[in-house]
Amino acid sequence: MLSNMSASKTKKVSTPKKPASTNGVGKLERFMQKVSDKNAGEPEYIQAVQEVAETILPFMDKNPRYKKAKILERICEPERVLMFRVSWVNDKAEYQINRGFRIEMNSAIGPYKGGLRFHPTVNLGVLKFLAFEQVFKNSLTTLPMGGGKGGSDFDPKGKTDNEIMSFCQSFMTELQRHIGPDTDVPAGDIGVGGREIGYLFGQYKRIRNEFTGVLTGKAIEFGGSLIRPEATGYGTVYFAKEMLATRGKSFQGLVVVISGSGNVAQFAAEKCIEFGAKVVSMSDSSGYIYDKAGITKPKLNFIKKLKNVTRGRIKEYADRYQCEFVAGQKPWGLKCDVALPCATQNELDAKAAQALIKNGCKTVAEGANMPCTPEAVEVFLGEKILFGPGKAANAGGVAVSGLEMSQNALKLHWTSEEVDTKLKSIMVEIHRTCVQYGAEDNFVNYVKGANLGGFVKVADAMLAQGMV
Ligand code: NDP
Repeated sequence: MLSNMSASKTKKVSTPKKPASTNGVGKLERFMQKVSDKNAGEPEYIQAVQEVAETILPFMDKNPRYKKAKILERICEPERVLMFRVSWVNDKAEYQINRGFRIEMNSAIGPYKGGLRFHPTVNLGVLKFLAFEQVFKNSLTTLPMGGGKGGSDFDPKGKTDNEIMSFCQSFMTELQRHIGPDTDVPAGDIGVGGREIGYLFGQYKRIRNEFTGVLTGKAIEFGGSLIRPEATGYGTVYFAKEMLATRGKSFQGLVVVISGSGNVAQFAAEKCIEFGAKVVSMSDSSGYIYDKAGITKPKLNFIKKLKNVTRGRIKEYADRYQCEFVAGQKPWGLKCDVALPCATQNELDAKAAQALIKNGCKTVAEGANMPCTPEAVEVFLGEKILFGPGKAANAGGVAVSGLEMSQNALKLHWTSEEVDTKLKSIMVEIHRTCVQYGAEDNFVNYVKGANLGGFVKVADAMLAQGMV
């Protein structure tokens, strides 16, 4: 029953599919050739663009005003790319050099908005893919936010608090001149949680001498929103709940497999448990745990402390609760009803998708950004299971970031219940938009729905704003 898939196999970035040679798809091939030529060496970016272009190009054929104004070509070109040196000093007084980035992708419907990722795999192509996805996701939330993303190849693992602070201060010393509450509002992502946002905010305030909502994901004491830490994971489960409801089902009694054990995974697990599901697996980059009896709330609290405070490895859960730990592998070979990939991009390939289907999985919602390879998505769509792509399913995080911006601008604070209610209704609305644009005969293609639903608002705003 357990998977034999190696981590290295699933980590591999899949090459974008070669489109078949029908008339309509020939256009896709030509379009993608140009994108590939312009963005050589950025496979994740090319993959993200292709996934969107597959649904947008045929739509533009039917709506020539977008085609004439070359809206998709424009959306694929970042408005601005910033790349900078980050020098800092470690605890041994040695100089360290990292590379910092901010991609300001699209500001048609609001200030650039999107997280910062600190991870050794960060490079220009990865951040461009994330910024591109963010444009559509932010549009889907119904809130006025453009798309951006940033980060660094800095690895926070094993660093002391002092080293993290030193890095964050140096990173913000450059970034601060490019961002602002009405210009560009970063947030967290992989490797950037509450601690990092605190250090980044402190440095921004010190240099600019202003207390503004320039970052989201802040602590409650200095302008954060309640429910922001929970929002991405909760939102993913709210979205999956809506998908299940279209087939007359609920989470009650379902078996759920989750990858990752960071921010998104923790709160996705929490909401699944609250909805009566049994979560049997979580993971980190060293492997996954399989707890047949189910991860209960107290056990989840252990994971939260392990990951957010003592910063240990997931294997310690297996040692503590006497369950299985499978090193170096992903949990997609486990029997389950629902799979929530919540770790990183391209972590679930076609082989894993087939294993999930074979084992009875009927619902997949992406908590992470682009965790399923294009081939895996093809398997899910071919089998007509419920598949919620990240730009819709994980939009709850940025939605509550948008609510944090509103609270900062209004200088007031909403209760947890108020924010959670707004989050729920945003996820329901995103689901409704996906159904509106993605409904096919007896099936909702959520990929198509999310792409078209996200595109139209941005495209109309770009048309109205002229040659920008
Ligand atoms: P965290 O850093 O809190 O957690 C990331 C988790 O994924 C960790 O368990 C980590 O394990 C694991 N992971 C990271 N890289 C890899 C890898 N290459 N292979 C296997 N496991 C890996 O990040 P978040 O939970 O915030 O983000 C997770 C995903 O969700 C990302 O794709 C992010 O872009 C997306 N997302 C996050 C949002 C947010 O609000 N935080 C909003 C929307 C999307 P380890 O600790 O061993 O590295």
